[in-house]
Amino acid sequence: MKNIYSNIYSFNKKILKKTVNYLKQGNIAGLPTETVYGLGGNAYSKRAIKKIFKLKKRPNNNPLIIHYYSIKNAQKDVILNNNFLKLYKKFCPGPLTFVLKKNKKTRIDSLATAKLNTVAIRFPKHKVVRKLLKLIDFPLAMPSANRSSYLSPINANDVYKEFKNKLNIIINGGKSKVGIESTVVDLTEKPRILRPGIISYNDIKKFLKIELSVKKTKIRSPGMLKKHYSPGIPVVIGGKPRSNNHAYIFFGKKHIKKRNYFNLSKKSDLKEAASNLYKTMRKIKEQGYKKIFVAKIPNFGPGIAINDRLTRASK
Ligand code: AMP
Ligand code: MG
Repeated sequence: MKNIYSNIYSFNKKILKKTVNYLKQGNIAGLPTETVYGLGGNAYSKRAIKKIFKLKKRPNNNPLIIHYYSIKNAQKDVILNNNFLKLYKKFCPGPLTFVLKKNKKTRIDSLATAKLNTVAIRFPKHKVVRKLLKLIDFPLAMPSANRSSYLSPINANDVYKEFKNKLNIIINGGKSKVGIESTVVDLTEKPRILRPGIISYNDIKKFLKIELSVKKTKIRSPGMLKKHYSPGIPVVIGGKPRSNNHAYIFFGKKHIKKRNYFNLSKKSDLKEAASNLYKTMRKIKEQGYKKIFVAKIPNFGPGIAINDRLTRASK
């Protein structure tokens, strides 16, 4: 992808150094990760955290995920446990976020964790953000780089369209491969999925060899808030387009060639469908359609995450 805006930079040593200094001063930057693009800032700096919440118009009760290079760095801020160590070994770095108890000595700003006594942590895999994390001596608080309640961005231009020149640095790291947000698993008690993702309920259950809790409690993960992930036009699950300005999202081998029909995966691959979901919704909105109808998506593996996002987008 060419950089068509002056605040979007290709990745090289020069921009790496510039971004490190910029973050050290308590500023925030648009950064690529393998899930979606993020707005990164020093998790220990109140100034940086305030900027993130303000720019996103994010409610103060929605805590941020804190990103680390390795366990060694995370230990200062959270209390590790056995389930964490097992899952870390298998899935990290990668698209999995862990909710753990806060270490009392932590320096994470209290606004970043919405004053909770837990912290959500992740070890992203994308090479750009890993190189950055290796060079700084603080973790990055990094929510998705979009205005609160809208679709997450999956490339640098998407980030630009959300915030225009309110960001001085957006690093272009190509298309986010996973394309939807990380799986969030709460490990503070019996493991429980708070937000489904590409690493599925069954992946985690199989690997830990224990049943996961499906207990519904008060909102602990505001990604669980009802309205979220909205493309900015109505989304209807079930039913078919009834006019030229309605679009249809479907999935699988059926070859339907119509201008307003969008296939998430011709191979019927749910992982591929997840990675195309936001891209497709953005494209539909940009092409001027006024409403999106969605076919039934198989509800297993990554399909659970797709249906979760679509259901919320339809609220
Ligand atoms: P986003 O940064 O937009 O990808 O969303 C981060 C997700 O992690 C949201 O669903 C948050 O509610 C969730 N999260 C962050 N910190 C915590 C925490 N301490 N406990 C539970 N969920 C959390
Ligand atoms: Mg988000």
